[in-house]
Amino acid sequence: MKMKLIYPTWRKLERQTPFNLPPHGPVVFAATLPDYVDVDFLDENVEELVIDDSPDVVGLSIMLSAQLPRAYAIAGAYRDMGIPVIAGGISSTLHADEVSRHVDSVFIGETEGRMEAVLNDLKNGQLKSRYDYLKNHPPIELVGTARRDILNREKYTYRGMPLVDLVHASRGCRFNCFPCCTGYLGGKVFRPRPIDKVIEELSQIENNRLFIVDNSLAQNDAWEEELFKAMIPLKKKWVSHPIKNNDKLLKLAYEAGAWYVYQAIVDTSDVIRDRVKRYHDHGIGVEGTIILGTDDQTVDDIKRMVDFLLEINLELAEFTILTPFMQSPIRNSFAKNGRLLKNGWEDYTCDRVVFQPKQMTQEELQQSFYYAWDTFYKEKSQEVQMGNMFMKVIRREIADDTYKPVTINNDRRSITNRQAIG
Ligand code: SF4
Repeated sequence: MKMKLIYPTWRKLERQTPFNLPPHGPVVFAATLPDYVDVDFLDENVEELVIDDSPDVVGLSIMLSAQLPRAYAIAGAYRDMGIPVIAGGISSTLHADEVSRHVDSVFIGETEGRMEAVLNDLKNGQLKSRYDYLKNHPPIELVGTARRDILNREKYTYRGMPLVDLVHASRGCRFNCFPCCTGYLGGKVFRPRPIDKVIEELSQIENNRLFIVDNSLAQNDAWEEELFKAMIPLKKKWVSHPIKNNDKLLKLAYEAGAWYVYQAIVDTSDVIRDRVKRYHDHGIGVEGTIILGTDDQTVDDIKRMVDFLLEINLELAEFTILTPFMQSPIRNSFAKNGRLLKNGWEDYTCDRVVFQPKQMTQEELQQSFYYAWDTFYKEKSQEVQMGNMFMKVIRREIADDTYKPVTINNDRRSITNRQAIG
């Protein structure tokens, strides 16, 4: 059976340096397909989709709300040719009712152990319009090594350097943050994968640089400690969401290869100042993720926040505008109070105001977003800061002999960037 698996494109965050990470959802999904399925994957963010083929089935992997309009267009084109379309992924689950009106079948939830039955239904002409496993997570032990072989890996580079490979060590989250849909999607119970299976998967990834995409590693100290200890011999270097604010775990994380973390910066308190300092003290960089437009913020608060970020020497900052995604606690609250302004998913890119802010106008919030990006990166551009982060990891790789030079070739000379940095 031939399956065309497509990851639709979307408009990227305005102001952010453009790059495309290899997607994670499609490779995790592909690992759940029976052996007889021949997967032809296309990521529209890095390759043009030409709809002139005739697979037995099309799979749409939809992570973001902003991918939905394009996903619907692709589904329509294939369905017009009589080819069945199945949609899955985070946003197919969040928007299941709407998605089901555009495809033959929508898969809700996690696919481990379930695709054989779905494809049997397809073969027997009995494909259901909806497979709903949202409240019935498969055993976490079933999560296998992702099928990274389906990626056109050469397409995921930044200035010729391979970007990180994505991997996950757990699902679910025991917290319930107001803008987040993870509780709805993956459940409010932390579900760690068996450490030996995680290590087995990490060992098979050729790339030395990884992004551990777990929602938060800081959910179970004993598990976190065991994971980091098991990772040390691999000598990988990695980016992740928060690590527990604990000297023992931060030290272990660095030894296990922690490169930098994405840390939510919610205010200008000493708690945040100390959190960032502790990462830095342990040699771990910080990319702050800052949501603009929360009810407690004024325009001046956003300006003060930018000053604070510069003062605490944050390496990178990603500013986004609060966006009420489907099934998030904040969306329910805005809906009750009549504060939702737009439901055009192409605007749900976190750089457009789609709700009524409390302490500023929509235009003030939009302009504050531009102010934050422009002011934070005024002295050192985001590209320069990203370059500095790369140099940081290259130095560590050289020190522990894991550095893989990128060769720069032209007609007359060939140097490596190991030589270039001395
Ligand atoms: S924002 Fe992170 S920590 Fe909070 S609920 Fe979502 S995944 Fe969990």
